[in-house]
Amino acid sequence: MKLLNSLNFSGGPGVLPEIVLQQVQESMLAVPEIGLSVLGISHRSDWFAAVVAEVERNIKTLLGLPENYHVLLLQGGATQQFSMVPMTLLRGKTHPAQYLHTGYWSGKALPEAAREGPMSVAWSGESCAFRHLPQDDELAFSAEAPYIHYVSNETVEGLQFHRVLGRDDVPRVCDMSSDFLSRPCEAERFSLIYAHAQKNIGPAGVTVVLVRDELLADAPTNLPGFLDYRQQIKAHSNLNTPPVFAIYVILLVTRWLLQDIGGVAQMDQINRSKAALLYRQLDQSDGFYRGRADRQDRSLMNVAFNLATPELERKFLAEATAAGFSGLGGHRAIGGVRASIYNALTLTAVEKLLGFMEDFQRAQRS
Ligand code: PMP
Repeated sequence: MKLLNSLNFSGGPGVLPEIVLQQVQESMLAVPEIGLSVLGISHRSDWFAAVVAEVERNIKTLLGLPENYHVLLLQGGATQQFSMVPMTLLRGKTHPAQYLHTGYWSGKALPEAAREGPMSVAWSGESCAFRHLPQDDELAFSAEAPYIHYVSNETVEGLQFHRVLGRDDVPRVCDMSSDFLSRPCEAERFSLIYAHAQKNIGPAGVTVVLVRDELLADAPTNLPGFLDYRQQIKAHSNLNTPPVFAIYVILLVTRWLLQDIGGVAQMDQINRSKAALLYRQLDQSDGFYRGRADRQDRSLMNVAFNLATPELERKFLAEATAAGFSGLGGHRAIGGVRASIYNALTLTAVEKLLGFMEDFQRAQRS
């Protein structure tokens, strides 16, 4: 069997650490401490309660979060959070929540918010084809807004904020789906963070929500139970049958981050080295590889670039696939090439990609 995991540059679901995949493989047959397959353990077992408790603890430790934050493990993906956030924070409000439209995914949150209450778009990058993010002097945040919402890393366009936005007297809500636990993020400055698992921390099927207790003080009481953060908090994310397997994988990944990597600051160092190598390759290619995002807003997770023509891009992708690289095709919305270099993608894999890119460029010119 050909194993391509180590060269999986997919935008998501993405690569997971090899050591975690080995533990997952073992757990399919039997989780060592209890002798049952992870796929057949009751969500009401003491074992699973301990798994959830450790995931909550590990995430809080990794981000340095205090007691007044809750860690939830919900279903419905990040997309469900596009709705749950405004259902909880926007219904019945008179002042608009402020949303930033910085790319494909933040755009998906807009109509869901508009359905629930007043909202406004504080900045849109549509006119620059989402090639850069706003500067501080382009943003005016209102003290009256119930909250502000933005996406920290635009997965499709490869744009990432390298600072915290907004104002400290207005709740910040952030979709960190594609850079969660990839770097320190000043988590305490956010009232609510959500991130689906399938980029950096696990398989699809579970979404982490971190929510500050006070944010929910006057949330509506007539929400469907499943979509009510407070009911989920009370049930420790076990209101109905949760995705036991996916949550177990998050546990293994958070242990890997804590024990093998040493925390998110160390993870950030590794991620920065990987991204620096790739962006240097683009910048030194004499325009052969053309980075999509403006320099100051480049993502450390998703390196999106183009070649001179769609034909050349197709050739690049076909040869990359033949050489064993996987998942390099850009998102269907914009095409091009995208190297996603999530936490578990190794420096060695990036170096192999650089070698391939060099060879490909040379071959076209000779
Ligand atoms: N937000 C971001 C930043 C994403 O990258 C994605 C999907 N790749 C989503 C939201 C949507 O996530 P889901 O498919 O889990 O609903």
